[in-house]
Amino acid sequence: MSAVFAGPDHAQLVINKTQAPKDLLPTDQLKFGASFTDHILSVAWDSTHGWGIPKLEPYKALSLDPAAAVFHYAFCCFEGMKAYKDAKGNVRLFRPEKNIRRLNTSAQRIALPAFDEAEVLKLLAKFTEIESRWIPEGRGFALYIRPTLIGTEPDLSVSRPQSALLYIIASPVGNYFGTSGMKAISLEAISTPVRAWPGGVGDKKVGGNYAPTIVAAEQSHARGFQQVLWLLGDPKVPEQQYITEVGTMNLFVAWIDHESNTKELVTAPLDGTILPGITRDSVLELAQERLVPQGWRVTEKRVYMTEIKEAAEQGRLLEVFGAGTALIVNPIRSISWNGQVIHCGLKKDQEVGDITSSMKDWIEDIQYGETEHAWSVVV
Ligand code: PMP
Repeated sequence: MSAVFAGPDHAQLVINKTQAPKDLLPTDQLKFGASFTDHILSVAWDSTHGWGIPKLEPYKALSLDPAAAVFHYAFCCFEGMKAYKDAKGNVRLFRPEKNIRRLNTSAQRIALPAFDEAEVLKLLAKFTEIESRWIPEGRGFALYIRPTLIGTEPDLSVSRPQSALLYIIASPVGNYFGTSGMKAISLEAISTPVRAWPGGVGDKKVGGNYAPTIVAAEQSHARGFQQVLWLLGDPKVPEQQYITEVGTMNLFVAWIDHESNTKELVTAPLDGTILPGITRDSVLELAQERLVPQGWRVTEKRVYMTEIKEAAEQGRLLEVFGAGTALIVNPIRSISWNGQVIHCGLKKDQEVGDITSSMKDWIEDIQYGETEHAWSVVV
């Protein structure tokens, strides 16, 4: 690693805690991403000096030049991860090194500076520890942490920003499904617009991937669907359309494979068009460990909509779910595609299938420290 890319140095962190701590919101009033904790941790970078001195300060607005690179050419990447409080009151992060690795990979794709991941992990752990009173207790509750990296150089030429800012903020989040349990959602599968394409940046968590999805998602909502299932393949040729992701989640399909008559859990491969989700990776590993011994097959491969439709028609489609940090898993009732509705294996009064439900329990048990596991790191 070059000298400029070394750092930041967590040992230099300057801590200036707020004199006016905010009141915590009642947990039933927590809205995702709408209220923030007491502090921001930030560290500036420039091409001459490299990473500067990290600071933890009272949460505040940033002051940036209107010509800053982030406002014009989407020099922005970020992460979404959670801290949990276990029954003993310990604070835990779930596979945090994976988020920090993904942030570094995203940064380098959009000409933002690389950083020393071990150092940023230590800063993240310190921030989480200082903000720990903001982690609501109880299963389903967590502190959502948003590490962000932006280009700050005031320069309208389309070029590598010579200054940048890495910062961490956090927002307490409630139990999305509440006490009523999981709710299955309906999807609309669309092949235009596309979210990502081969050779693009679909596999990076860059800000520019998100704004262009909103209009399509709104139109889909207006037609009565909760999420968009993003397809790739010629919009005029339904047989060529294959699944990528759903909303901001990776997609899993559990079916009986028609050739081998074996139960199979399938998901799209990491071919550059989907985000390499940390929940996706966890589902795949747990499925290898716990479903394969029960006779399941676990496969990463391209899944065509015609295959899902055929499996549903032949009674082979067992369950479908989305997977991501926000909800862990989200069961899917139906997919509207090409003028038809595909029922995804749930009975009329059933909200969640066995595999989806087991995955949620397995992952949550690890996140909340009920199953000791190397993925859950006590801060
Ligand atoms: N796909 C997209 C496009 C996302 O934004 C997210 C959320 N980060 C995911 C998938 C799920 O990734 P993870 O499991 O790491 O939250």
